[in-house]
Amino acid sequence: MARILIVEDEAKIARFIELELIHEGYEVDKAADGRTGVEMALEGDYDLILLDVLLPQLNGMEVLRRIRRESDVPVIMLTARDAVMDKVAGLDAGADDYITKPFAIEELLARIRVALKRHEATAATPVAAASPEPDHHVLTINGVSLDVERHEVKVGDDPIELTNREFEVLKALMENRNVVMTRDRLVQLACGYDFVGETNIIDVYVRHLRSKIDDRYGIKLITTVRGVGYVIREN
Ligand code: CA
Repeated sequence: MARILIVEDEAKIARFIELELIHEGYEVDKAADGRTGVEMALEGDYDLILLDVLLPQLNGMEVLRRIRRESDVPVIMLTARDAVMDKVAGLDAGADDYITKPFAIEELLARIRVALKRHEATAATPVAAASPEPDHHVLTINGVSLDVERHEVKVGDDPIELTNREFEVLKALMENRNVVMTRDRLVQLACGYDFVGETNIIDVYVRHLRSKIDDRYGIKLITTVRGVGYVIREN
């Protein structure tokens, strides 16, 4: 699960981005000023930083410079509309990308995925790629297969793109096939015991899974058990 730090002084914007990222399965922390942002960025083990340019205490450019002295963590700058100088200066100072406010959240999510993937590809070592394939723990039910180690889900040969949380919900249901799982239990398995949100978040993940798998392939994978939860029954 990728960890993302949001450095943004406008609480409403920061909160909005935070909720969307959590929904996508990311772990999120926030800093509301530049100085805290630098400290957290360098101390926390983040996979990506979202960095506003206009910040109290230290502006985003200075935050970026200080992060870059010590770390190559991907940084996406949040810039004001038409602030061309900010964009150029940000990229010169080592930002990986920038996005102009106001932005569509889907656009930001796409940029985040690209930056994370690019960084992962750079960080991957050829030695690891050359090592023999480990045994894979693959769960298969009704034509849907889930590779636990590779974090891959397929329907037949078609790969299905899932967020981390969607994957964890599906994995919990597949590992407990024919067992009706309550929302509480699914939240524990998919989101961790310290999850503080509402358990009906599971309904959202199931809805996403159904649209990505059931609806697209015309199968009925996940069954709702009214008033209890969900189950995957083997046909
Ligand atoms: Ca700001």
